[in-house]
Amino acid sequence: MSLGNSLLARIAQSGPMTVADYMTECLLHPQLGYYATRDPLGAAGDFITAPEISQMFGELVGLALAQAWMDQGRPAQFTLAEAGPGRGTLMADILRATRSVPGFGQAARIVLIEASPVLQEIQRVALREHKPAWISTFDPLPEAPLYFVANEFFDALPIRQFVRDGRFWRERCIGAAEEVLQFGLGAPVPRTDLDHRLEDTKDGDLVEICPAASSIMSQIGRRIESHGGAGILIDYGDWRSQGDTLQAVQNHSFADPLENPGQADLTAHVDFEALCLAAPCAHTRLTPQGVFLERLGITARTEALSKADDQTARKDLPIAHHRLTHPSEMGNLFKTLGLYQTNGPPPPGLDP
Ligand code: SAH
Repeated sequence: MSLGNSLLARIAQSGPMTVADYMTECLLHPQLGYYATRDPLGAAGDFITAPEISQMFGELVGLALAQAWMDQGRPAQFTLAEAGPGRGTLMADILRATRSVPGFGQAARIVLIEASPVLQEIQRVALREHKPAWISTFDPLPEAPLYFVANEFFDALPIRQFVRDGRFWRERCIGAAEEVLQFGLGAPVPRTDLDHRLEDTKDGDLVEICPAASSIMSQIGRRIESHGGAGILIDYGDWRSQGDTLQAVQNHSFADPLENPGQADLTAHVDFEALCLAAPCAHTRLTPQGVFLERLGITARTEALSKADDQTARKDLPIAHHRLTHPSEMGNLFKTLGLYQTNGPPPPGLDP
């Protein structure tokens, strides 16, 4: 049975589902879900991410984390955790770049949070010399300082959508008409968690929440606040998102989110304000990815690597630099948020 037919059967039996339930089924259904069945990254896949564009991305993030570790007195044991590590490229680049930082690699315990068995296998191979541990929820994070990184992870978490109706909200749901999936709206209900959105919306406006992101942020934030460490989160989105940002991408092009469920990547913009409100630790200003990478020295790194003899590298590096930093490419759409302990120093490249 296709995932589309399975969803139609479920709707016929139990009624319309929330956008979050729909995203969860499409992305993580054990046999038919998007992430469960493929490696979506790279030219042959559906999308390409910053660490897959250039090693410079992971190297600079790694050195920023190592600097944060040194600023905190080089704790002897810490957790180096990544959520949604994809092919393991970012973590591999972090660990290679930080080899030059004495003691960092020895003190790090690598922990990965990954829902896809296919990608977990690729990570196992990419990172085998570092002996990572996989955890499925953030509960069992070790009692140690936490250095956390996530690139394009929070955008994959399921969102719920609400349309304003007076002082009430109607949830956007997915039902079916004549065997075709369709959006609809639930009954108007009051929602205290959306009270703060009454001030910046009007009737008919749509807002999104991501309960899974809030719960993860509260666990990560609690660990950083009590044990020290730092977080670097990179994703597309903004401070307080507004409007429908659910999007489907297949073969590097936009698609209809309700067509071909399980075959396209579904994401939503990250609402960084909501992430910060959920994290009980300090956070930096939201900083465009281009600005963050420039502050960490990506231009100097591009020049240094370009001096290598390899012709292809010399040609590719300025292109990668442009894609990662230019405002018309990823430089502005993608934002960076730092997490740190209250009264401690923020991670390098980010302002308190
Ligand atoms: N960070 C990588 C991959 C980004 S794609 C990179 O930048 O290249 C999103 C990643 O998050 C994938 O590894 C995907 O399998 C993982 N993922 C998506 N939803 C998840 C969930 N609910 N729990 C854990 N991992 C998830």
